[in-house]
Amino acid sequence: MNDIELIRRTIRTVSDWPEPGVQFRDITPLLQDPRTFRVLIDQFVHRYFDARPDAIAGLDARGFIIGSVLAYELNVGFVPIRKKGKLPFTTVAESYELEYGSATVEMHTDAVKAGDRVLLIDDLIATGGTMMAGKRLLEKLGATVIEGAAIVDLPELGGSDRLRASGLALFTLVDFG
Ligand code: 5GP
Repeated sequence: MNDIELIRRTIRTVSDWPEPGVQFRDITPLLQDPRTFRVLIDQFVHRYFDARPDAIAGLDARGFIIGSVLAYELNVGFVPIRKKGKLPFTTVAESYELEYGSATVEMHTDAVKAGDRVLLIDDLIATGGTMMAGKRLLEKLGATVIEGAAIVDLPELGGSDRLRASGLALFTLVDFG
């Protein structure tokens, strides 16, 4: 079995969570097995080793897990993009629409510098709203997002198409229909 197939088969699908009708793609089995965790992180290390970004920005919360390990491996800094109200210093904020209501993400104003080339990372792209908000935050501070990366894309929800249409290049490992 190749590495991508191993990753796909290790992701667990939980039906009707967090609400009826949702097929939740659970990445925790990938993390708890040291072999699949390494195979997973190595996919991103190989992708970004030469293009080495100035920083990696991870989206709350599963983007922190893979983003921080990747930052360590590439020897670059890690920046958390957090849900509203969690960061202590001065922040910039971006809101985006959810199916019901809206959400806000924040970043410290000194987390990146104008001109920095930043990799934005999360575990999964669904509607693309979270990653789009992260991209806007980084751009507010003058950074360039070199690529958006995720383990999983759910292409039927249209998020990856919307992100690409906004000019963001994407790198994802597996699709689920
Ligand atoms: P989006 O903003 O693209 O609609 O949703 C993506 C965000 O929601 C990501 O931060 C991701 O962690 C979370 N998310 C939504 N659906 C799933 C899912 O099925 N599995 C996982 N692991 N995360 C999900």
